[in-house]
Amino acid sequence: MPIYEFKCDECGAAFSEIRRIGDDKQVPCQECGSVQTKKLISSFSSLSSGSSPGCASASRCSHGAGGG
Ligand SMILES: [Zn+2]
Repeated sequence: MPIYEFKCDECGAAFSEIRRIGDDKQVPCQECGSVQTKKLISSFSSLSSGSSPGCASASRCSHGAGGG
């Protein structure tokens, strides 16, 4: 099940709660119990696309025997 992050507007506490998909009911704060909470973006979709270390601009990158 996806875990959503919530933040309380009352005390500003942040907490995570397991919610079912489609369940948009108000989640009470775990600190003060206020229902003035906001659902934050879950950290599920965190794609990190880094540049792969390659020899793109390197002139002499061919590691092959033979010489030339
Ligand atoms: Zn609170």
